[in-house]
Amino acid sequence: MVHEITLIPGDGTGPEICAVVKKVVAATGVQIKWDQVEAGADVMKTAGTPLPDNVLASCRRTKVALKGPITTPIGAGFRSVNVALRKELDLYACLRPCRTYQGVRSRYEKIDLVIVRENVEDLYAGVEWPVGSEESKKIIAMAKGKINPQAAISIKPISRFNSERIVKFAFEYAVKHKRRKVTVVTKANIMKCTDGLFLDVAREVAKRYPGIEYEERLIDNMCMQLVQKPELYDVICLPNLYGDILSDLCAGLIGGLGIAPGGNIGDQGALFEAVHGSAPKYAGQNKVNPTAVLLSAELMLDHIGETDAARRLDKAVAEVIREGKTVTYDLGGKAGTREMGDAIIEKLAVIPPGSQGGIHGSPASGRRG
Ligand code: NAD
Repeated sequence: MVHEITLIPGDGTGPEICAVVKKVVAATGVQIKWDQVEAGADVMKTAGTPLPDNVLASCRRTKVALKGPITTPIGAGFRSVNVALRKELDLYACLRPCRTYQGVRSRYEKIDLVIVRENVEDLYAGVEWPVGSEESKKIIAMAKGKINPQAAISIKPISRFNSERIVKFAFEYAVKHKRRKVTVVTKANIMKCTDGLFLDVAREVAKRYPGIEYEERLIDNMCMQLVQKPELYDVICLPNLYGDILSDLCAGLIGGLGIAPGGNIGDQGALFEAVHGSAPKYAGQNKVNPTAVLLSAELMLDHIGETDAARRLDKAVAEVIREGKTVTYDLGGKAGTREMGDAIIEKLAVIPPGSQGGIHGSPASGRRG
């Protein structure tokens, strides 16, 4: 069977990583017809927008996309293409498995966490006004002295609908992948209306899954807990902003951004991408680690039902990292992006079908049955 999948190489180091990933995925033997479309800073110059219509149209048609990182200018310029894609395609669940690989320098061992982050609302809804705008003034007046008159305003919407579907996604994921516990993280003691609603909904949803342990943590405490005792946690479900921050924290626990994959999933489609950004200072240098996008492609293969290829890919990546001979600078090696990709292809050639392993609910990753 041939799968048609949208490929968005992105900008910065994205295109060079995606070229390697395409080659490696082809070496798994899975038949993919890539519909390659361009988004980001580079296409902005010619198309006048960083997110041309054909990108969204392709994602809507194929329902599965693999994306390289895309630069978001700080403060001024266009809004984040990454956030826009998630919102436009209603990819409400951000899935970020974090697992330690033998051979990666890290202070921790045997980490096997999955972050489930709400992806479409919270402070990322893009509802904000600058200092002195009519809207800011109105809100400041409504707040009756609680807000400094010179403040800029960002709104944090949290709804029952979006909270319910993300917590449900986390529990469904736990059931499907034989996980034992879901921890819901908020700051509901301070933001009683928004985070309070998220927590109320989480408690209701948790009752429908008596087979899965449920617990709650405050975000500040959770950061400390994860640094001190990450092995206590399993699936962690959070609103958007906390999820973004904790994803990077967990990427740090497992040895860095170079090996942290992600998936953005909705009821009508899915888009897979690394946690890391475009690392523009390394663009065109054949230097950065392709692993995070490769492991995102592994999640993608699993998503389209190519589970065996996903596991073989994971095994090949794990083996190259464990050997440490052909790895990129961030893993202590001297290899370039392409050379690391070629080493993974060599391993794939000798890993037989039916191998176990994988970051997406596979028996080899420890607690999952
Ligand atoms: P970044 O992740 O691009 O890079 C931070 C540092 O991490 C790099 O300087 C590098 O040292 C290291 N790093 C990142 N990826 C690596 C890899 N594959 N291999 C080895 N080392 C790697 O973060 P940033 O500098 O904050 O962001 C750069 C741009 O990317 C920004 O415009 C940001 O908005 C954007 N961004 C995009 C996405 C996305 O496309 N989903 C995600 C995060 C950031």
